Amino acid sequence: MWKDLDISVTRREPDQQKSKPGLENLGFGVHFTDHMFLMKWDRENGWHDAEICPYQNFSMDPAAMVYHYGQAIFEGLKAYKGDDGQIFMFRPEDNLERMNSSALRMCMPRLPVEKVLKALKALVYLDRDWIPTADGATLYIRPTMIGIEPVLGVRPSEQYCFYVIMSPVGAYYAEGFNPTKIWVTDKYVRSVKGGVGHAKTAGNYAASLMAAQEADKAGYTQVLWLDAHEHKYIEEVGTSNIFFKIDDDLITPPLGGSILGGITRDSVIQLAKSWGVNVKEQQLSITEVIAAIEDGSLKEAFGSGTAAVISPIGELCYKNKQYVVADGKTGELSQRLFEELQAIQNGSQDDPFNWIVRVG
Ligand SMILES: *Cc1c(COP(=O)(O)O)cnc(C)c1O
Repeated sequence: MWKDLDISVTRREPDQQKSKPGLENLGFGVHFTDHMFLMKWDRENGWHDAEICPYQNFSMDPAAMVYHYGQAIFEGLKAYKGDDGQIFMFRPEDNLERMNSSALRMCMPRLPVEKVLKALKALVYLDRDWIPTADGATLYIRPTMIGIEPVLGVRPSEQYCFYVIMSPVGAYYAEGFNPTKIWVTDKYVRSVKGGVGHAKTAGNYAASLMAAQEADKAGYTQVLWLDAHEHKYIEEVGTSNIFFKIDDDLITPPLGGSILGGITRDSVIQLAKSWGVNVKEQQLSITEVIAAIEDGSLKEAFGSGTAAVISPIGELCYKNKQYVVADGKTGELSQRLFEELQAIQNGSQDDPFNWIVRVG
């Protein structure tokens, strides 16, 4: 199916193929499939040398710009195997378009979306036996672009490498939906308006580690980020977007430049609206959220992202005070969104929004 592409394919010899991990110990992003996609960019040739090849190490000059100044962007999406063996990806073009907006912000070259989508399909199809079939298990796909020109001057690299690796991942909720405990930080910030918070770029995640470590030490699983100017408005939770159901409204912060525009976030908004839920993209302060917990109008809270899809929140800790959310249980709307999104993603339900793309 890749014959119409200018992509060379080198398959791993059958006797060189890796043994696949057992379903019970997949973990997240630990095991990688037999093949990867790779292509290069420079000013003279544009994107070139596209190939699917055996998964392998890179050899790179230690002066490569990505190692010093962090020109690195990535994406995360999934491939699913339906009950009938059909293979699907969820909104892959949206991931590639988002990668292009990250590239624009980081002064990196645009990807040819159509061509990369074909390469993604070819790669997933070639390694289709790596897609786990257990309920909720999927193949996680990680497109990445890095600046590789070996020069120490601070300016945009004039050479890039784009590659795609894939990892079979287990069901996020192997033991059912477990509401998470969230640490609200008013000490660290994730991003600022005018910065790079809306780009999926490597430095954002390095910058988030210390707050995550503090949360972990206090016994919390994720950090809730507030705005950088006033430490007041809700932004995101960990590497997910966040939603609050207050009375009959489903509220999520608007995309104002410091928040990553999640594809799951957008899917939740569209799906909830189609059910007649009153969805509001509006600023919400941490004090409003706490007041809503205290007067009982906060019914549910959850994070949204590709990895977990929907991640219910059972507790918030803010200024050393603990607040239980929704009795520490998974709310009705969270549950319904999770089930419906997962059913659309694995092809077991109608896809009224045309989100899934068939592979092979
Ligand atoms: C990737 C990511 C999200 C979620 O995006 P999805 O497209 O839904 O996976 C949210 N916030 C941050 C900071 C992210 O990196």
